[in-house]
Amino acid sequence: MFSYRHAFHAGNHADVLKHTVLIATLDHLLEKDAALTVVDTHAGAGLYRLDGDYADTSGEAAQGLLRLLAPPPAVVPKKGATKEAEAPLADALARYLSVIADFNPKGGAKIYPGSPFIVQHLLRDHDRLKLFELHPTDARTLAANIAQLEAGRQIAVMSEDGFGSATKFLPPPSRRALVLCDPSYEIKSDYARVLDFVDGALKRFATGTYAVWYPIIPRPEAHDLPRRLKTMATKAGKPWLHATLTVKSSKIVTTPSGETRRPGLPASGMFLINPPYTLKAQLAAALPQLVDRLAQDRNATFSLDAGG
Ligand code: SAM
Repeated sequence: MFSYRHAFHAGNHADVLKHTVLIATLDHLLEKDAALTVVDTHAGAGLYRLDGDYADTSGEAAQGLLRLLAPPPAVVPKKGATKEAEAPLADALARYLSVIADFNPKGGAKIYPGSPFIVQHLLRDHDRLKLFELHPTDARTLAANIAQLEAGRQIAVMSEDGFGSATKFLPPPSRRALVLCDPSYEIKSDYARVLDFVDGALKRFATGTYAVWYPIIPRPEAHDLPRRLKTMATKAGKPWLHATLTVKSSKIVTTPSGETRRPGLPASGMFLINPPYTLKAQLAAALPQLVDRLAQDRNATFSLDAGG
């Protein structure tokens, strides 16, 4: 059933956006002493080697994380970006790179931490992490990677459907939670399942922070998703934030020899309900720099909206 393996995509531009937002959000939530529960509905394998077979096959980190570490000559983007390649990195990006560096003490970026390891790295002893991963191989790898941490009861790994099972942890005893919903969207029904999941979760636990990643691709469900999440948040009277990063055109290119080339993932977005009030300003500084540094053509741009 599943062909998606996150190892092919680890450290790409979508991970840079998602994990920058994740870290900034967590940093804010962890300022309070009360215990935090993080629920990761689609966890992946947890840790990835960027010099391994999967990553070598696609080389996606080369157009994501690695460009932040060693910026290429800038492609001047058409709109939405300022010329900031020379400016010091925005705080949220510097923080993202410092977390990646913690996993690569000898320098460079051979190891890429997925969301479970990023979260675990930041949590305190009294916080909790609930991980769901359905792909049998990735679930086994995740469980083995997590077992090495000897984290005991702090982390639970479940080889279960995150959409169906994750709400059982809501609300957590401390009534403070961050829920990351990051499916692969390889099945069209994932878009509707995200909406059902967030709707159900908000009804159980209206004050939780919800972060949904989604791909921006030419399909109606992908365009509808943030619009529907915004309606959902607004109806519930909850604040929301929506950030997108585009690195290239989504057009299928035909080469002079008549070959058609799909562009690969051109853009993605993060939609948050009950975001930290500090996040918008952080992303307003970070997103133009991501456009400058990760642009692959002149269509690169970003958007940032918030309401509620
Ligand atoms: N959150 C991870 C990160 O940031 O490092 C990446 C997750 S990846 C985009 C999506 C994962 O969801 C894949 O590993 C896939 O096997 C898994 N998956 C797909 N459907 C699922 C479901 N219904 N419940 C739990 N996991 C699922």
